[in-house]
Amino acid sequence: MKQNLLDFDAHGLTTYFAEIGEKPFRAKQVMRWMYKEGESDFAAMTDIAVSLRDKLMQKASIDTPTIMREELSDDGTRKWLLDVGTGNAVEAVYIPEATRGTLCISSQAGCALDCSFCSTGKQGFNRNLSVAEIVGQLWWANHQLGKNAEGNWPISNVVMMGMGEPLLNFDNTVTALRVMLDDHAYGLSRRRVTVSTSGVVPAMDRLREECPVALAVSLHAPNDKLRDELVPINQKYPLKELLAACMRYLEKAPRDFITFEYVMLDGVNDTVQHAHELVRLVRDVPCKFNLIPFNPFPQTHYQRSRPDAIARFRDVLMQANIVTTTRKTRGDDIAAACGQLAGQVQDKTKRTGQRPVVLHR
Ligand code: SAH
Ligand code: SF4
Repeated sequence: MKQNLLDFDAHGLTTYFAEIGEKPFRAKQVMRWMYKEGESDFAAMTDIAVSLRDKLMQKASIDTPTIMREELSDDGTRKWLLDVGTGNAVEAVYIPEATRGTLCISSQAGCALDCSFCSTGKQGFNRNLSVAEIVGQLWWANHQLGKNAEGNWPISNVVMMGMGEPLLNFDNTVTALRVMLDDHAYGLSRRRVTVSTSGVVPAMDRLREECPVALAVSLHAPNDKLRDELVPINQKYPLKELLAACMRYLEKAPRDFITFEYVMLDGVNDTVQHAHELVRLVRDVPCKFNLIPFNPFPQTHYQRSRPDAIARFRDVLMQANIVTTTRKTRGDDIAAACGQLAGQVQDKTKRTGQRPVVLHR
């Protein structure tokens, strides 16, 4: 079987090149073609010796994920459904803004952690994505969007907030992060790449050592009793341990704060009392809050908090000098908002006859 070069970071690619009798600088050259030029055809890599191109064509490939469906929201948000084989699909979402372009990518097909308000969690766990499938989401999105007028790729920020728990697919996530950060590949700054975790404490410590990037932690509740219910992994790593891990992470983090995500569930975690309890809980942790109005999906009994409840909750945090933003719900007309990513390939193949379709709404 051919070796997919998208599965390597710079170190892996250099090692592979040594194995096939090639010099390290050739690996860097090929890497630049793959990521800076978005090239997937060895034949087009014109400054590479023909003999090496031939060798790569025989032994290797640059296999990007297959796209089953692309959708464009009224607000410019785009969603791609990527086929990852054996009846699984994952989703990536591009969110254009005035000063940046953010791609939200997936790390697993499904998720084992079963948070009660999450559509991905309801699917259960299917499998980890490979490095090529994680990086391939970025490759594909850049490819589809094309370079901007300055000759740069439009994606300036990546958030691992799609499907799955990135820290439970640790090795592939870290290798993929290295490709995002590498100057010969995407060259994104550590501050512009964010891993979101539901709180896998030992893996947070490993990430701090191996590849510190911006960190978002899905908090969602001000006490263990409620968090046990909403985010079941809390039973294993309760709040005290989670917050201690956040403090340790900050010692090496590229940003001097943790972003806490907090999904706003009507009547569940959104009262003023919850907000006060939250302020006491995070008193010692440099942080910002991102309130996410719950995004409904079929099979949920939760409802989104009312706008006035969200505003009151935000005011309590702001009065305690915690910078708090309320996430705009982008792309919800195409089910591309947080927590709505489901990637149910089964249903969609029935409708599309397995051919890629582009829907413009
Ligand atoms: N597994 C990681 C990253 C993926 S989820 C994590 O849990 O952090 C990305 C964010 O979307 C998390 O903060 C998650 O709690 C939130 N989320 C999940 N379902 C949601 C929903 N239905 N509405 C709003 N946010 C949701
Ligand atoms: Fe998994 Fe994150 Fe969804 Fe929880 S919120 S089930 S950790 S993807």
